[in-house]
Amino acid sequence: MTESVLLHIDGRERPASDGGTFTVVNPTTGEPLYDVADGTADDIDRAVEAARAAFEDGRWRSMPARERAKVLNRASGMLAERIDEYARLETRQIGRTLREMRAQLKRLPEWLEYFGAVAQTAQGTSPDFGADHLNVVRRVPLGVVGLITPWNHPLLITMKKVGVSLAAGNSLVIKPSELGPVVPGLLVKLLEEAGVPAGVVNFVPGLGRTTGKALTEHPGLAKLDVTGGTETGRVIAASAGRSLIPVTAELGGKAPVLVFDDVDIDQAVAGALFAAFIATGQTCVQGARILVARQIYEPFVARLVERTRKLRLGDPLDLHTQVGPLVSEAQRSKTAGAVDRAREQGATVLAGGRIPSGAHLQKGWFYEPTIVADVAHDHDLWHDEVFGPVSLVAPFDSEQDAIRQANDSPFGLAGSVWTNDVGRSIRVGQSLDIGIVWVNDHHRIDPASPWGGFKASGIGSENGLEAFEAYTRPQSIIINTSEEPFDWFGSVEDVRYS
Ligand code: NAP
Repeated sequence: MTESVLLHIDGRERPASDGGTFTVVNPTTGEPLYDVADGTADDIDRAVEAARAAFEDGRWRSMPARERAKVLNRASGMLAERIDEYARLETRQIGRTLREMRAQLKRLPEWLEYFGAVAQTAQGTSPDFGADHLNVVRRVPLGVVGLITPWNHPLLITMKKVGVSLAAGNSLVIKPSELGPVVPGLLVKLLEEAGVPAGVVNFVPGLGRTTGKALTEHPGLAKLDVTGGTETGRVIAASAGRSLIPVTAELGGKAPVLVFDDVDIDQAVAGALFAAFIATGQTCVQGARILVARQIYEPFVARLVERTRKLRLGDPLDLHTQVGPLVSEAQRSKTAGAVDRAREQGATVLAGGRIPSGAHLQKGWFYEPTIVADVAHDHDLWHDEVFGPVSLVAPFDSEQDAIRQANDSPFGLAGSVWTNDVGRSIRVGQSLDIGIVWVNDHHRIDPASPWGGFKASGIGSENGLEAFEAYTRPQSIIINTSEEPFDWFGSVEDVRYS
């Protein structure tokens, strides 16, 4: 039997204003899991209005930062106790393996703790304003912010936006992905149980082209924050531009993995597999272009192909499964289409490249982890984000060649450098036109560490003090401290501009 996911506005759950719903399907079995309320433009209006009322009466933003931090810390403790339950729900909903989902979700309470601490320690400034004035610059919250999230890490990405925006004192309207709304909805209820006042966090599931569009175009917002594909980011940033509000956009990627000739090959292959195939390749920082020093190219690729073929596909709830299904039929056909196109353009598929044949894999949207060679720089696979378990391998001849190839991408989100030469890791890392560089690692994230892309990968940054700053704005208070009487129009002699 399917369960229901409702809207959550002003502390109350409710169906969509027109009663509309859509279905979330289990990508492993094809069975319907949830009937989700399909938020209308009227629902978005109500949610923004509830958030605005909560912001204006100060029930959250005027709470002292240390009180807000206490609430966030309480929510963090409650979340830690619910990780196993939420991880299972996420796995059933998007098909990512339970072992990975648990590992990811266990970290999420840290976001609430970190941003609670940032809120308490944030300070204004007092710039020099000359002898007769004192200038106090406070950082104040923005107002009602619209958060639009994708399906690939439903709770992680919601948390990255919710923790910081609440810590800064804002009110929120969340539009989750149509494929992953369940656990973000539970987070909203948890936050209210922990003490976030009703109306501060509102939740309106629905489709991007209707509910998301209505939120994006709503005149009552003070900021938009989206994680999604680059085209979605462009549409949302254009709306933000028309409303003259700031936007944070975390968008697509085509991450390079640079493997130099001084590495231990087995370790580097393990690293490349980690970069390429966690979350069935459905991460924005997926190691999609594995660039390998020509001196070790052959043994590295042979080992990579051998290990790729051995990855265990299956039921993502089974802790022995290493790779789950893709999230949807559309995502699998996009993946298969990208590999077919690469073949047509002359590339060679070394591993995978098919829908797997096992009887237990026929109901879900499975696709074999795939390694492709002979991809030229003008092939689609070099430039386009697949968002599936497909990585290309290519040799490079020198440090400069590695950097040139890595930077030949419309995206600039993240990448990794694998070498034991410290100087080289720094030289190469600093030359990459990307927002996140890992050395001898990949995928690592921390609430304190800025996360954001260059080029077509986005605008602004999540995490860290940068994100807190982007969820506040300065208010400059200038106080006249002079004892001298002042009359601008009293005399022509005395006019002072400072
Ligand atoms: P998506 O299709 O762009 O959707 C993202 C969100 O935007 C969803 O909630 C979607 O609703 C909504 N949306 C779509 N069109 C909209 C519109 N016209 N107006 C307002 N909202 C709209 O992305 P996705 O497939 O969910 O996620 C995969 C993408 O996200 C990949 O490109 C990946 O690289 C990127 N990503 C980036 C990061 C990062 O940190 N940079 C992290 C994770 C994922 P629906 O669900 O109804 O379509």
